Amino acid sequence: MPGKKVSLTFDNGPTPGVTEAVLDTLSRHGIAATFFVVGENIDNPAGRALIDRIVADGHRLGNHTYTHTVLFGAEPDQAKVIGEIERTQALLGDLGSERLFRPYGGGGHLDKRVMSRTAYEYLSANGYTMVLWNSIPEDWLNPDGWPDTARAQIAAQEWTVTVIHDLPTGAMESLDRFLLAAREDGVEFRTDFPGELVPLVAGERKVAIEAILSER
Ligand SMILES: [Zn+2]
Repeated sequence: MPGKKVSLTFDNGPTPGVTEAVLDTLSRHGIAATFFVVGENIDNPAGRALIDRIVADGHRLGNHTYTHTVLFGAEPDQAKVIGEIERTQALLGDLGSERLFRPYGGGGHLDKRVMSRTAYEYLSANGYTMVLWNSIPEDWLNPDGWPDTARAQIAAQEWTVTVIHDLPTGAMESLDRFLLAAREDGVEFRTDFPGELVPLVAGERKVAIEAILSER
């Protein structure tokens, strides 16, 4: 699949004991990625050290909510939703100056539970860039087999934004094998994203997101 583009994203971490090896592997392959981190995981010195290293290693860093439990579109308490964004952004501090944000997807389905109008307006007014996805190889369900699923998804589209997880599921032990195979496939790893998956760019509304937007 020469010419296929892939933007790798590592969600839900960082995880001491897992993320270090992911960073080592990426650096050995000379591949940069984006880490969408959960606020609770960086609200401690070990997590903080990991986001420092993520940035020092040349990766992009984004906000993936504070508790990773609140589906913005389904949540009646929208103040709680805004808090999920703000608490993590405060923890990121200067490391979060890109204001990248990825909503919690509850298993990856892009439907109206994912985003509320209130949060969308907030993200837009505060200059956030919202990044969605088009590949969920379900590494947490299939820690050994996910690379094959990911490669099939990459083969099926021009530019794939793959979501995998630096979590203690065992899946990251297959990362090296995945990267080797993808390189052999001729894919091009990138750190930017296809426009159709970035509905907000520095607050500017680029793509209509009615399919994932609830009226809350
Ligand atoms: Zn997530």
